[in-house]
Amino acid sequence: MAERIGFIGLGVMGKPMARNLMAAGFELVAFSRTRADVDELAGDRAAAAGSPREVAEQAATTILMLPDSPQVVDVADGDDGLLAGAGDGALVVDMSTISPVVTREIAERAAAAGVGWVDAPVSGGDVGAREGTLSIMAGGSEEDFGRARPLFEALGRTIVHVGPVGAGQVVKACNQVVVALTIEAVSEALVLVSKEGVDPEVIIEVLSGGLAANKVMEVRGRNFLEHDFTPGFRIDLHHKDLGIALATGREYGVALPATAAASEMLQALRARGQGGDDHSALLTFVEDLARHRIGG
Ligand code: NAD
Repeated sequence: MAERIGFIGLGVMGKPMARNLMAAGFELVAFSRTRADVDELAGDRAAAAGSPREVAEQAATTILMLPDSPQVVDVADGDDGLLAGAGDGALVVDMSTISPVVTREIAERAAAAGVGWVDAPVSGGDVGAREGTLSIMAGGSEEDFGRARPLFEALGRTIVHVGPVGAGQVVKACNQVVVALTIEAVSEALVLVSKEGVDPEVIIEVLSGGLAANKVMEVRGRNFLEHDFTPGFRIDLHHKDLGIALATGREYGVALPATAAASEMLQALRARGQGGDDHSALLTFVEDLARHRIGG
């Protein structure tokens, strides 16, 4: 029997990831803010815990899949927190997308308590989480990464150790910059071509054959053309991720002008109630600037 693993944060990503770990033979002890999610997983054989501390008391390795930095800090710290229950030699594997700066701070506090930290954010979305095909970019020591690797193998297909603690989060921030700016560029192209009277479907086909080819057009092409903005990846989360990229740029003295513009576009969409839409709805921001809806 494989070792018992703690799992905290049973949302869109966390629940299917926890199930994949159990399917791979790991025994799980789980906690999440909503009790119903914990009970649902307990129905699938996981043990239910009442706090992060209880999780750490029952598992030497705990995975986190939480929304953002404040929730990771909240789960790690305090009397009922993970670090209060973790024994010397325990390991935390944070697979949430959070700030690299906050990651280094908590990892230092964890190290002082004898607890290792690996930041291992993912890309591949809810489909990758369900199918166990996530891309995992991990930061941490060689030894800690080695300990986490069997878990990653149950969750993902591309598993890369990118550097020391915090490096995984920096790589993920870069990933989110490229995706947001690609969505924005594709949106501009679609609106421009459509206003000229050309069928926007044509531009996706033609551009896909050359240097402008990209995964956003491949995976989200239909969403743009049909104005189907069912998530997918929510604008709220992508806005959070660009905030992380911008704060990291500020910390390191790196200007990210196009990222700042894309972040403000997402902010505007949130202000008009589209935070829950898929990030491909950035198209509607560009459409409104041109007072033109593609395909219509
Ligand atoms: P989610 O909001 O669906 O899930 C988060 C879970 O954490 C929820 O179950 C919530 O109840 C729980 N939670 C929140 N605060 C808590 C606390 N203090 N203690 C215990 N549990 C708490 O989010 P998600 O879509 O699963 O995303 C999780 C992380 O993965 C985010 O950082 C996100 O940016 C990243 N991510 C998401 C996707 C995606 O496609 N959804 C893709 C890649 C990465």
